[in-house]
Order: sequence, then structure tokens, then C-alpha cells
Amino acid sequence: MSDNFGFDTLQIHAGARPDPATGARQTPIYQTTAYVFRDADHAAALFNLQEVGYIYSRLTNPTVAVLQERIATLEGGVGAVCCSSGHAAQIMALFPLMAPGCNVVASTRLYGGTVTQFSQTIKRFGWSATFVDFDDLDAVRRAIDENTRAVFCESIANPGGYITDLDAISSISDEAGVPLIVDNTSATPYLCRPIEHGASLVVHSTTKYLTGNGTVTGGAVVDSGKFDWSALGKFPSLSEPEPAYHGLKFHETFGPLAFTFHSIAIGLRDLGMTMNPQAAHYTLMGIETLSLRMERHVENAVKVATWLENDPRVDFVTYAGLPSSPYHNRVETICPKGAGGLFTFAVKGGYEACVKLVDSVEIFSHVANLGDTRSLIIHSASTTHRQLSPEQQEAAGAAPNMVRVSIGIEDADDLIADLDQALSKTAT
Ligand SMILES: *Cc1c(COP(=O)(O)O)cnc(C)c1O
Repeated sequence: MSDNFGFDTLQIHAGARPDPATGARQTPIYQTTAYVFRDADHAAALFNLQEVGYIYSRLTNPTVAVLQERIATLEGGVGAVCCSSGHAAQIMALFPLMAPGCNVVASTRLYGGTVTQFSQTIKRFGWSATFVDFDDLDAVRRAIDENTRAVFCESIANPGGYITDLDAISSISDEAGVPLIVDNTSATPYLCRPIEHGASLVVHSTTKYLTGNGTVTGGAVVDSGKFDWSALGKFPSLSEPEPAYHGLKFHETFGPLAFTFHSIAIGLRDLGMTMNPQAAHYTLMGIETLSLRMERHVENAVKVATWLENDPRVDFVTYAGLPSSPYHNRVETICPKGAGGLFTFAVKGGYEACVKLVDSVEIFSHVANLGDTRSLIIHSASTTHRQLSPEQQEAAGAAPNMVRVSIGIEDADDLIADLDQALSKTAT
């Protein structure tokens, strides 16, 4: 589909066409595991990657393929691979790049689960992560060494309302010859397009705003197609004969689609972190209204954050959409349509008051999720960020006196009234 169409058109049409068999206008849920080969030659061509087609749904599925094309188009990438969750997408993004002994340089301001995945779990693969403050550009530069294979950050970092200067970070990763991976979950491609700021790969938890209503988990890795995998010899899985696929040279064979093909032919084949067609269907439904929802999320977040900032029971609010935020000046360049719908605020009375607040809300739901149409609240220090050290909690914007909200698309006045009555219970 033409890239000249606007975002609102692409979020509904990109990747989809009437079903060739039935004319069905909506993308059918192809609930099938396998696909009949026309003949033995056809089967051989598919397995040799000489012809693109469907073999087995662990690798590719027509419903999932529509979602992949839709997300790739919205992000301005050449291809995308959908996965079973956002965390699966992060492993899938690193997998073709890393080997035992390799490291990823990551921002300290990340989703709590990502901090745990990077600081603990990836060690079992022989990989490691070096965490640095991405506002300290010299520290980022210094942290990159000869074994670094990726730089990783979030565009709008959940939960602290921090916006990364993607242009500055991508010029450092470019200089070092390593790809920049940006988790664009909190911003979505409607608010931020990381590839335009130099990202090589973009990852998503589609569980959040892309699906938009808290129904299914999923993830995606989008390939910009712009990184030169062969230039420095650092990415042999992509530039050299790949033993896991009978010696195929992915970069030479597939050019800008090397990463995408590698992720399907080897990543999904062997790691099996596949998105199922039902999940893809729900996410396709959600994406059709992404821009409308994000506009309302932002509008409501600005209203609620402004009200909270002026309330004496609240110490401060960290939302980049507020002029008081140190990151406010990055909104215009990084996410010009708004700073998203997520932020944290500090409650006077600390830990105890926060726990009382989450127990007293009525419209807000106390859940470990974000990006739902309904407003959500969580006390990160006692839940999602519980396993982090106090220093890590502080760095991630999840100190004991902080509450995180994901502002939904309800009436802003009702949300404010709900927080008002709940805050009045924290004072007693
Ligand atoms: C939720 C989330 C993830 C993990 O995604 P899952 O779908 O829950 O696995 C990663 N990054 C960010 C920013 C998230 O919000």
C-alpha cells in the first residue's frame, strides 16, 4: 500500500486486502496450523526460501502476516515479525545479533520486566546488559565496547514519563556501528516514529496500546531495513553463511529484509515465540482506531496530570506533557502529537498512602497493565518493580511514594473525580 496515505488510512488498510478465496472484507482468522503444498517442487521452493508462502503457523500465518505488514507500515519499516508477547519480541530482536560474550547497552529507564529480563535472564544465554543513564551521552559512548551488539531504550519510558533523545542516541550507536533498538510500546507509531530518529529496529508489546483494550498479549519487532549488517563483521548470523539454515547468507540473499527473514526462518522456527492468529485478529481490530484512541489518551492525560499537579495531596507529577517536566522540550521533536497516556505521581504520605489510594479508586482498575481504553492504576514499588533494588526503582521512576496511572479514554472529569475521592481517603 502506498506510503503516501495518511496514518488514519494506513491503520485501517495497510497489509489487508479482500480475502482472495471469499472476498471477505475483514481479515479472516486463518485458524490453521499447516498449508497444503501445490506439489513437491512448491514445497521445496518454500523450504529453500526461494518462494514466499505459508508452510506452518509457527513460522507464518496469513492473519499474523497482515498484522506484521500493518505494524511495519505504521512504523516506516521494511518488515516486521510478530511474537507471543512484548518480552518475546525483545529476545527475538536480540537473537540474530548476539552470541555468548556479547552485550547490549541499555537505558536505566525501562519497563521493570525488561530490567529483570536484561539484568538476569539473558545471562543464561551468555549475553549481558550494561545499564547507563541515557541522558549522559558520554556514559553511553563509554559503555559501548567491542562486544556490544545493540543499544536499547524506550522512546517514552514507562513509568517515569521520560523521553529519550533518540537522535542523540542513534548518532552514538551509528558511530559505534551497532543497531539502536527502540521499544515504542508507550508511544505507539502514532505519537513517535523511532526509525525517523535513527532506530534500526523497533520493538512493541502489542498487548498495550496497539491492541488497546486489554484482551491479548503479543509483541512485534520492526526492521528499518537500514542497518548494514555486513559492514564491520559483527553480525555473522546475518552476514556470513548461517549454519542453522544450511549455510544461507541472509544479508547477501535478502538485502534490507535480512533481519526479518532471519527472524522468521530461524528465530520463530527454533525459539517458537509465535503469535497466534486469534491474537493477531484482536490486535488488528485495535489498530484500526489507534490514532483516535491515542488522541484521547493524550488529551485526558494532560487534563488529569494538570489537575493532580495542582492538588495539595500530591507532591509532584512526572508527565512530559506538563511544562514543569524536564523532558517537556523533547515532546516537540520526539513525539510531536503528545507525550502519551502514562505517568506517575508522588503521593504525600508515601508507601502507605499509595496503597490506600489504589485500594480506594472506583473507575480506575488496579492492574499490572497499561494502554487499555479503561484507566489503570498501580503502585509500582509493591508490584511490577518489586524485584528491583531501591536504586533501580528510583532510576525507573518507581520509588515507594510513586503511583503509576495509564489514563484511559473515559470522560476526564469522571477520572479526576475518582482520584479526588480516593486521595481524600489517603489523608486520614
Ligand atoms: C508491557 C511492556 C513490555 C512487555 O510486554 P509483554 O507483552 O507484557 O510481554 C515491554 N516493554 C514495555 C514498555 C511494556 O510496557
